[in-house]
Amino acid sequence: MLNTSLAYIGLGSNLEDPVQQVEQALYALDRLPLSRCVGTSSLYRSQPVGPQDQPDFINAVAALETRLSPLALLDQLQALEQRHRRRRERRWGPRTLDLDMLLFNHTDIDHPRLRVPHPLMHTRAFVLGPLNELAPHLRLNGERLEQWLAPLGNTITRLDSKRVFE
Ligand code: ATP
Ligand code: CA
Ligand code: CA
Repeated sequence: MLNTSLAYIGLGSNLEDPVQQVEQALYALDRLPLSRCVGTSSLYRSQPVGPQDQPDFINAVAALETRLSPLALLDQLQALEQRHRRRRERRWGPRTLDLDMLLFNHTDIDHPRLRVPHPLMHTRAFVLGPLNELAPHLRLNGERLEQWLAPLGNTITRLDSKRVFE
């Protein structure tokens, strides 16, 4: 049995009622085996990266305490995507649910199925914004999240709703 780890998960959806997709996924993350959700950001609206001919995304970030290994957690995240009827079509295309493992403790992972920290997270306001709300103390390569966010411009909008776990 592994010790407890802290993972940050980035959520995104732009199909079939994205707010509900993300809220249901936050709830489901709290129920993954050997895991519990210890914090969630607000929901944010963002414009798609890649193909622009698709709806805006709803994004959020969750902090997960887990005793799963990183690959076992990835399996669970992919199974949860499947339960949200995710289909893999074109790259960066529309999807009902995308779950990216952003960070896993302070571990660096370079595996064919899993790279952590997520290699593009420092370039994406829709990841850094909610992550900074949830964990403003975090640093990437020694720099505060705000410093990574500054050059990216104000491209995300925070929604009112916020899920709270007890
Ligand atoms: P991006 O990774 O640029 O956000 P994406 O989320 O659209 O793109 P997916 O199609 O969801 O990409 O995932 C492709 C593969 O990425 C997955 O099958 C998974 O094995 C792999 N992968 C590598 N690192 C990670 C990670 N940190 N979190 C989730 N999946 C990852
Ligand atoms: Ca992604
Ligand atoms: Ca993904």
